[in-house]
Amino acid sequence: MSAPAAAPRPDAIDPADWRDWRWQMQQRVRDAEALGAWLRPTDDERRAIERLAERFHFVITPYYASLMDPDDPGCPIRRQVVPACAELADPAGLADPLDEVAHSPVKNVVRVYPDRIAFCVNNECALYCRFCLRKRMLGEPEWAMKKRELEEALAWIRRTPEIRDVLLTGGDPLVFSDDKLDWLLGELRAIPHVELLRLGTRLPVTLPFRVTDELCRVLERHHPVWLNTHFNHPRELTAEAAEACERLLRAGVPVGNQSVLLAGINDDPETMRALCEGLVRMRVRPYYCYQAQLLEGTAHFRVPVEQGIALFKALRGRTSGFAIPQYVLDTPHGKVPLAHPWWRGRDGDDVLVETPDGRVWREPNPL
Ligand SMILES: *Cc1c(COP(=O)(O)O)cnc(C)c1O
Repeated sequence: MSAPAAAPRPDAIDPADWRDWRWQMQQRVRDAEALGAWLRPTDDERRAIERLAERFHFVITPYYASLMDPDDPGCPIRRQVVPACAELADPAGLADPLDEVAHSPVKNVVRVYPDRIAFCVNNECALYCRFCLRKRMLGEPEWAMKKRELEEALAWIRRTPEIRDVLLTGGDPLVFSDDKLDWLLGELRAIPHVELLRLGTRLPVTLPFRVTDELCRVLERHHPVWLNTHFNHPRELTAEAAEACERLLRAGVPVGNQSVLLAGINDDPETMRALCEGLVRMRVRPYYCYQAQLLEGTAHFRVPVEQGIALFKALRGRTSGFAIPQYVLDTPHGKVPLAHPWWRGRDGDDVLVETPDGRVWREPNPL
């Protein structure tokens, strides 16, 4: 198996700048003109950028832009980040399909389970995914977290002893400076009932240069720290992304992946298998694959649940068990696993199951 290829870097850009995450943040693509340096936008893309400018922000890192196919509007990288007019035609979509606002005991803390929370520490990412669950808050000043609001969330966690697992998400927690992240993780680590710290971040995919040795030293100080990232397509598995994951793993941070099942991007068994097998070659464990939510502007990404179930059924028995993520539908009341019914019920003292090769197996198992 060949090693992953590096992302193409335009000749005009100094390699030291290219690998500098702050340079990448400053040089992000934010309009049709800047996008034109990477590809020739179609009329649909151009119109979508104009008409969506106010509603769903459009931002891409140069690194991620370099992975886009300039000639193919159907490119699975391009479709994740470049606006399309289809986003304007989704009457059923909701702004907050998981009803997160109603589940917030304090601003930007989402509590669905008794023992763990999603803590949206900011509302900024390196780039904005077109299918973002939290696009209602991205880049909107009212959703930004001021220092005082972060303190209020920390105070709520301190006085809520049931919380043993804190998932930092956003936005994206790795957009914070090392110092700010060190402070926040330190405050959480000092709370006796908080056992686990988790980061939900797409930066290993969209801006892998953010994962510096200095960042890893910060994370190491606050173990146990777990991290889930978000690769959706095998073309995202570059040498740079592999290096970012390798650094995290060397710092003792287990790295998992949460993808979203997206129509025309990763909704066929061969693409999903290539993604998952590529991830485990990088020692990244596929954790969840989410059914796309009933979220405004994303009807063109949604796949029927039956198709998703059939896709993951097709992987069972055909690749390493730990390469197969759990396919889940997130709901306002928690995540629900969606799976082919391998369990076929009971017949007297036997239980019946379907095997991956399509037989029915009878297993003695008296009540
Ligand atoms: C996904 C999620 C979690 C974490 O769930 P796990 O199944 O433990 O990974 C916690 N809180 C909220 C609100 C979530 O959406």
